Amino acid sequence: MTRLTSGVLAALMIAAAGVAIGATDAIPAAGGNIQITPLYHASLQIEYGGQVIQVDPTKEGNAFSPKKADIIFVTDIHGDHFQPDALAAVRGSSTTVVGPQVVADKLPGITVMHNGETKTVDGITVVAVPMYNLTRGPSAGSLYHTKGRGNGYILTLGGKRVYIAGDTECTPEMKALTNIDVAFMPMNLPYTMTPQEAAACAKTFKPKIVYPYHYQGQDTKAFAAALQGTGIEVRLRDWYRHAAAGGRSAPRR
Ligand code: ZN
Repeated sequence: MTRLTSGVLAALMIAAAGVAIGATDAIPAAGGNIQITPLYHASLQIEYGGQVIQVDPTKEGNAFSPKKADIIFVTDIHGDHFQPDALAAVRGSSTTVVGPQVVADKLPGITVMHNGETKTVDGITVVAVPMYNLTRGPSAGSLYHTKGRGNGYILTLGGKRVYIAGDTECTPEMKALTNIDVAFMPMNLPYTMTPQEAAACAKTFKPKIVYPYHYQGQDTKAFAAALQGTGIEVRLRDWYRHAAAGGRSAPRR
């Protein structure tokens, strides 16, 4: 008799379901809903107005067969955010790729955005927000994410401002954000924030809806509990179905 581990069984179940992409959230906006599909860790698919946006595509996220992108946003060079092969897999001949200079250095010809810059990308207003560590790093005096290297992004879709924070601690720039309708906030140690720090940070800029993402190993329920009664809607979603299905993963930072 064949014995199946639960991981293999889960993988088979996903395969039997046609590698289901998972639940998609609809957020009402002018001109139609914004569709949000968590894929894996920092990888997500956003659809609005007939455009498909992929954020930080990875092979783990691509296991769920996301759509070809009209626009791809890359936040940073770490392997859980920038995988050239995975990016190529969701890139079409007319796809716009947006990233910081450090990504452009490895992928010439993309649209470069610098911290603080605003651009219109295929009709979408995009703001590049700094993402960086304040204190955490691999050794004294160095940081995992230095200011200026990577970008978080605010996308305005149908009048809604969607903020993808990237790998960051609670920076002054994040605290100063206003009118954020949807925020994706990282919480994993040692690279970004604790759930408690992320919750305290969310209280400062008060997004209407917040998704913990990039949270492997962390208790997102503690994040939700810390925001109870604040009026901020916390949406807990499973960003690690690939790993649960026995998938192999790149190092996550
Ligand atoms: Zn990361």
